[in-house]
Amino acid sequence: MAFDYDLFVIGAGSGGVRASRIASGFGARVAVAEEFRVGGTCVIRGCVPKKLLVYASHFSEDFESAEGFGWTVGERTFDWKTLIANKDAEIDRLEGLYNQTLAGAGVETLRGRAVVTGPNSVRMGEKTYSAEKILIAVGGWPQMPDVPGIEHAITSNEALHLEDLPKRIVIVGGGYIAVEFAGIFKGMGADVVQLYRGEQILRGFDDDLRNRLAKEMRAKGIDLRVGCNVTAIEKTKAGVLLTLTDGTTLEADTVMYATGRTPNTKGLGLETAGVETASSGAIKVDAYSRTNVASVFAVGDVTDRVQLTPVAIKEGHAFALTEFNNTPVSTEHDAIPSAVFSQPPIGTVGLTEAEARDKFTAIEIYESDFRPMKHTLGGSAERAYTKLIVDTATGKVVGAHMIGLDAAEIIQGVGIAVKAGLTKTQFDATVAVHPSSAEEFVLMRNPRP
Ligand code: NDP
Repeated sequence: MAFDYDLFVIGAGSGGVRASRIASGFGARVAVAEEFRVGGTCVIRGCVPKKLLVYASHFSEDFESAEGFGWTVGERTFDWKTLIANKDAEIDRLEGLYNQTLAGAGVETLRGRAVVTGPNSVRMGEKTYSAEKILIAVGGWPQMPDVPGIEHAITSNEALHLEDLPKRIVIVGGGYIAVEFAGIFKGMGADVVQLYRGEQILRGFDDDLRNRLAKEMRAKGIDLRVGCNVTAIEKTKAGVLLTLTDGTTLEADTVMYATGRTPNTKGLGLETAGVETASSGAIKVDAYSRTNVASVFAVGDVTDRVQLTPVAIKEGHAFALTEFNNTPVSTEHDAIPSAVFSQPPIGTVGLTEAEARDKFTAIEIYESDFRPMKHTLGGSAERAYTKLIVDTATGKVVGAHMIGLDAAEIIQGVGIAVKAGLTKTQFDATVAVHPSSAEEFVLMRNPRP
């Protein structure tokens, strides 16, 4: 049977774009459908605009530090509208590049919502397309709990397009997005309250990083309250009035929820094609991103394996190699380095101390707590911390963690070593880069007693 396409991709985000262009490079006839903007969460409303805002917000501290280095910084004013307009222009530019990449690779981009109508068919409006293989890469969407008045809350989507910088903002959640946006708004001068329902923010991260980030955020003036949640939201003239689990109330201009993201599978027609999903809506896949239907595949956040852009890209690439170049490649989901662009930032790879204790008979912990050189003259009291976790039996470094200036940049290189399974002895044999914060990773000599 002749199909319209060899591959029909739904969703032109990080995973879908990578899979499309690589498959096309192997000679496949590929179409990618996108209902919103090419680039997906990361480029349009995630990693990229978020990081631009992180840079913007950090200037307030940088101006302070500059004085310690002899600079006199004049009157400082910040214009939110300028930032948002410049950020939007940059996102437009990147979207243009993505479009060019797809066109250059010979991929046909179809605008509109695509719905699966069978194992080999997809409908877009009035049109139905057939394809030998369908790849679902539709990503995820912010989820919010069912709290009375939740319609008055925003998510990170809207936070990137606010008309004005809120003077008082409450952020609900304790994950990546919540801590990143708390830092962003604080740096820009807003009063920030962050509410987290559990005992400590960043559940799943190494406890030393969690505790240190909480301490540093509070030192910067963020009112971080743990063991606390919202029970009701009311709209007021000035903004919102929140009722909290401890019975108190809290007024703010805006409340932002960062309470996780859910796979975008609603109304996608997966039932029609017989594609199995988990109760969360995530598409169930194997190591090769295959669903239970032989012609249907899924990559990225919609599979809820690891919600990170570079992981979606790797999954998309592996899918294209496997299905269109006869080279079976599965994506490894171990030792994935990641960064939280909190202030200070976090870089992490491998096991946490708690995970390592569970997994190995004996472990050694190496750690270093120091003041980054920039802060000596700069005057900031912010500290940095590095930590290595070593399996005593093999000497392998099974976890590396850092919080502090440049941690996000530093962890990528350390990630290679951890992924390669290098030992502490090999770390120690590496010459330090001096003076740097990164050098701590090869200079920690004595294990924690
Ligand atoms: P996360 O899953 O990281 O965090 C969700 C947070 O919301 C948790 O603290 C969770 O608490 C809390 N929460 C969940 N449900 C409720 C509720 N009903 N009431 C109150 N609190 C609740 O999600 P994010 O939204 O922060 O980010 C989504 C994903 O995007 C991340 O998992 C990450 O993979 C990715 N991301 C990566 C970034 C990066 O690489 N720098 C940046 C931003 C996002 P609890 O811990 O108790 O479950």
